[in-house]
Amino acid sequence: MQTPSHTGSASLSELIDDLDGVTAADRAPLRDARFQDLGELLERLFPICRSITGDGVRQTLAVLGEHIDLAVHSVPSGQRIYDWTVPQEWNVRDAFVEDPHGHRVIDFRESNLHLQSYSEPINTTMSLGELRQHLHTLPEHPDWIPYRTSYYRRAWGFCLRQRELDELSEGTYRVVIDSTLADGELTYGECILPGSSQKEVLISAHCCHPSMANDNLSGLAVALRLAELLTDLDHYYTYRFVFAPGTIGSLVWLSEHADLLDRIEHGLVLTGLGDSGHLVYKRTRAGSAAIDSAAAHTVTLSGGQVRDYSPWGYDERQYNALGFGLPVGRLTRTPHGEYPEYHTSADNLQFVSEEALGSAVAAVLRIFDALENNATYVNLSPYGEPQLGTRGLYPSTGGQLATDNTLAMLWMLAESDGSNSILDIAHKTGLPFSRLRRAAVDLQRVDLMKEQHTTRD
Ligand code: ZN
Repeated sequence: MQTPSHTGSASLSELIDDLDGVTAADRAPLRDARFQDLGELLERLFPICRSITGDGVRQTLAVLGEHIDLAVHSVPSGQRIYDWTVPQEWNVRDAFVEDPHGHRVIDFRESNLHLQSYSEPINTTMSLGELRQHLHTLPEHPDWIPYRTSYYRRAWGFCLRQRELDELSEGTYRVVIDSTLADGELTYGECILPGSSQKEVLISAHCCHPSMANDNLSGLAVALRLAELLTDLDHYYTYRFVFAPGTIGSLVWLSEHADLLDRIEHGLVLTGLGDSGHLVYKRTRAGSAAIDSAAAHTVTLSGGQVRDYSPWGYDERQYNALGFGLPVGRLTRTPHGEYPEYHTSADNLQFVSEEALGSAVAAVLRIFDALENNATYVNLSPYGEPQLGTRGLYPSTGGQLATDNTLAMLWMLAESDGSNSILDIAHKTGLPFSRLRRAAVDLQRVDLMKEQHTTRD
């Protein structure tokens, strides 16, 4: 998975212009291959047995670190983190259940979902009746394996297809979980891409789920590609990508970065971005942050949906907690719990598509474009409509794009009294932010408009 290099430093807005098909004539397009190959990454990460601690998280971060400048940090088991304690580290060598004939009827090596995450070690025999107390199935989806965890209470269990359970006969079963639960560490990764400002945008994706593609590999893939792209682009904000285990991982990150939280101006949690549903943006707790406006515009324009905050979900609920109050929204496609494949073996590589991941990458770039480049302008020729033709701004050739661009200029002129930002006008008109931004630049070039101030200051 390689992103193409380019000559000179391009800006984020130039990349968006490429996506819109308006690359400047003297510059090669930046967009080629930028949204491909994410499937390869998912195939590589899919088999790894991840949990909130352990080798699987380290292996996953190592793969991400092949593509971006990723610093890996760790905190020891037992460390207090606000109201939580970093748990012991969990690792698995093997786990299986053997039937009375010595056949492996449940096998961790076939799917890591077969083992309840954080299962304690065990090596014993028992009756089917006793074993059943530790088995989890999905009767309504008899061919799917459920995903179960028990991080903070010592337990063990196996997950299997209902169809497999139905075939088990009475008798004595051998149960082996060759796992370790021992003092170790919790690991997370961080990639910081300095901008011209110290103000930051936080991007967070959890990295603690075993073999499921949408939850959570899609979030890792989209965040990784964004980091790769921004590495090559000029940008105003400093972008900080955090890859951490859910809940305890984001709390660890928050506790270790308490001194820089006031630099974080905008944030997004990314997950569940590979399925075929449309985009869904979940607002920050305040609901009125700049990220809310930028994301609502982009997601609505893509045919997606915007929802209010609730203290239920992914790590946005840690970032938005009263003690931190960070303006962190969340971008998904179909939200967790609203598709039957969620937290089952049916959330597999066939459930997600490169196309969905790629368009999610593009959507987040558009959100960043609005955060980076939003500004208010003043119309310098407010007495009626100025003559665009004499200034070379009426297109000499027709076509849809030409008409759209003219309309964008007319809207910018009509609304730019210094109080409406480009994003305000985008919301009002339903025109894409990027098109209005280009119209503003064109109008300023011929002295019909003047930038008053950017909204990022
Ligand atoms: Zn999950």
